[in-house]
Amino acid sequence: MHEMQKIVGFDVWHTQLPVNARRDHGIGSVEHVVDVVFLRLSAEGGECGYGEASSWSVFTGSAEASYAALDRYIRPLVVGRRLGDRAAIMADASKVVAHCTEAKAALETALLDVQGRISQLPVWALLGGKCRDSIPLSCSIADPDFDKDLRLMERIKADGLRIIKLKTGFKDHAFDLMRLERLRKDYPEFAIRVDYNQGLHPDTALRQVLDVASFEPDFIEQPVPAHLRSLMAEIRARCEVPLLADESVFGPEDMQLAIDMQICDGVSIKIMKSGGLTRAQTVARMAANVGLTAYGGDMFEAGVAHLAGTHMIASTPEITLGCEFYQASYFLREDVLQSPFLVKAGEVQVPQSAGLGIAPDVEKLDHYAFVRSK
Ligand SMILES: [Mg+2]
Repeated sequence: MHEMQKIVGFDVWHTQLPVNARRDHGIGSVEHVVDVVFLRLSAEGGECGYGEASSWSVFTGSAEASYAALDRYIRPLVVGRRLGDRAAIMADASKVVAHCTEAKAALETALLDVQGRISQLPVWALLGGKCRDSIPLSCSIADPDFDKDLRLMERIKADGLRIIKLKTGFKDHAFDLMRLERLRKDYPEFAIRVDYNQGLHPDTALRQVLDVASFEPDFIEQPVPAHLRSLMAEIRARCEVPLLADESVFGPEDMQLAIDMQICDGVSIKIMKSGGLTRAQTVARMAANVGLTAYGGDMFEAGVAHLAGTHMIASTPEITLGCEFYQASYFLREDVLQSPFLVKAGEVQVPQSAGLGIAPDVEKLDHYAFVRSK
C-alpha cells in the first residue's frame, strides 16, 4: 500500500535563477535573478517528489520566509508522516506558520508529486481528474524598454501565442496608452489583457482605467492597492470592461470578502497565493458559484511551479481564461526541469505521465543554490 509509505527525506534549496530581461510591475521590479525555493520529499520506498515556492517580496513575501517556513517549521511535521495523510499534513502546515502560502504550495505539490509517481498517476488524477489537455498561454509585456518587448512580441507570435498581458501603472499613463495603441494596431490577432498590479493612485485610478477600457481589453486587473476594496467595487461598477482581482484575493477567505463586497468580475488564481493546489481549486469554485470568471496566474516561477499550476488548472473546469506560465520559456535564462516545460501552438500541454510529469535536474538546483539544507 503506497499510501502507507512514510516520508523519510526533506531537502530544501534556496536558489537564484538568472533572467533575460527586466520586468516592471505596479508594485516593483525584477532584474538579473529571481529567488525560488525548491523542496524535495523522499518516500521510504525511494521515490521522490518536488515542489516549488516562488515568492516575490513585494507581493506574497520573501524567499527567505518560504525557506524558513519549510526548513524550520514545516519539516518537523512532515518527516515520519504517511503519504496517505496529505490532508492532515496540509492542515497542520496551515497552523504551524502564518502566511507563507508559497511554502505551503511547495509542500502540497511535492506530496502530490511523490504520491503520483508511486501510484503511477498524474497529479491531475489525484485532484479529481482532468477537464482539458491544453491551456491557452498568455505572455506578459512588462519591459520598461518597449522596443525589447516588441522583439518579444515577434518571438511569441511566431511561436503561436495569441494572448498578452500588458503590465501598466509602473511609469506614466501616456506610456500605457502609447503601448496599447501600438499593440492594438500592429498585433490585431492578439487578445490583450491589462494588469496594473495595484499601481494606480486612488485619486486618478478611475479616470485612467476608463481610458484604458476604451481599448476594449479582455479584462483590467487590480488597478489599486489590495486593501482598497471599496474603490475596487466602485471602479468595477463604473467600468464596462471586466475587472479582475489579483492582490486583493489570496485564498478562499479573501474570495469570500471579494464576493461580499462585489469588488471584481473575475479573479487571478495562483497556487502561490492560495497556499496550495486544493485551496486554489476552492477559490475557483467559489468564484464560479457566483458567476465570476477565473484566470490561471503565476508568480516569477520556474518549471516545477508551472507544472503544479498546469495540473491544478487541468483539473479545475472553473478556470476558463487560460494561464500565464511563460517564465520558463521566455524569462528564465535556464529553467531547472530535466526536459522543457511543454508549450505547443500557444497552449501549455498538460502532462500525461506520473506525478508532475517532469522532474527538476538536481545538478541545476545545486548549481543555482546559495543555501541548502537536508
Ligand atoms: Mg496580476
